[in-house]
Order: sequence, then C-alpha cells, then structure tokens
Amino acid sequence: MKTLMVDMDDVLTYGNFSKILEDYLGYKPDYDNIKNYYIQDILEDKKDDFFSKFKDMDMYENAKLLPDCYEILKELSKHYKIYICTDYIWREIIEYAGNNLKNKYNFLYNKLDFIESKNFIFVGDKSVVNCDIKIDDKVSNIEGARMKLLFTAWHNKDLTDDELKKQNIIRVNNWKEIASILLNNNY
Ligand SMILES: [Mg+2]
Repeated sequence: MKTLMVDMDDVLTYGNFSKILEDYLGYKPDYDNIKNYYIQDILEDKKDDFFSKFKDMDMYENAKLLPDCYEILKELSKHYKIYICTDYIWREIIEYAGNNLKNKYNFLYNKLDFIESKNFIFVGDKSVVNCDIKIDDKVSNIEGARMKLLFTAWHNKDLTDDELKKQNIIRVNNWKEIASILLNNNY
C-alpha cells in the first residue's frame, strides 16, 4: 500500500487562521495581493498585540472539513496508508505552540474517526516525512515525494503551469480533483 501524506491547514480545513486575522483587523485583507505564506506579516507593528490575544485561541473551535474531504479521504484510506502531517509551531510565539498542538490533535481526532491517531504527525519540518504521495499547499512541503499535489491557496496561485510542470507538481483545487487523480488513476 502506498503512503499518502496529507497536510491539515488549508488542505483539510480552510481559512481558520485568516478568519481570526480578519476579525482582528476588522476587514478582509486583499488576498489577491498577498504573496507571502505568512499572512500575519501584513500586521507589521500590530503583530505583538495580535499574538498576545491569539495565543489562547483555538483556531479549530468552529473549523470544518472542506467539502467532500471526509468522504474522499475515507475512500482513499482503503487504497492508501494515510498520514495527516501538520506543522504546529507558531514562529512568533513558539512558547505557546503546545496549545496549537493540542487543538490540532483534538480536531483531527474528532473529525477523522477512520484514521488512527498514530497516523497523525506533528512536525516543524516535513522534509523528514517520507511518503510516496504528498498533498500540501506549500511547495517546499511536497518536495521529495514521488507524486506531488499542490493544493491551491492564496500564496501559491501565481505559480504558473509551466513552473509547476518543471517541478513535476500537479495542482489541485478541491477534493474532487484529488479523488479523480488518486482513485481513478490506479497510481
Ligand atoms: Mg497547509
């Protein structure tokens, strides 16, 4: 059975951090013009104030799985050995990252009842994870996999088809597209 690494934020569940950021700012940032993976960088001198409030929040309290994610992942789990791999470290407030780890674990445990907890991987550096297939919204996290699926997000949408092709990366925009590749392709 081939191994499949699936990222959590902005792949299983979308926009939880940006929602908190929008509530704090009181407006929706112009995502079309944000190219940075770390959207909090737009806060500039308000960053300390934001994180002093953010550190005690549970990003996943009201978070939902993306459409079709549950059903398709469940089907995939019959054909692939699935690992959910997520970075839990808040680089601005590393001393509070343990809160994030707990909240992430609880979300995965409660939402993905067909995946064993031992297949949850909490890391800061995903390059140590060796899986045949990787799905992530961050290009550097899928490097090294035999099949690389890049989940579309604000920070990667400008990567052209040519650039992706050069790196052997396939772009996916939703879970139905993942299913059409991984369930119908006999990969
Ligand atoms: Mg992600």
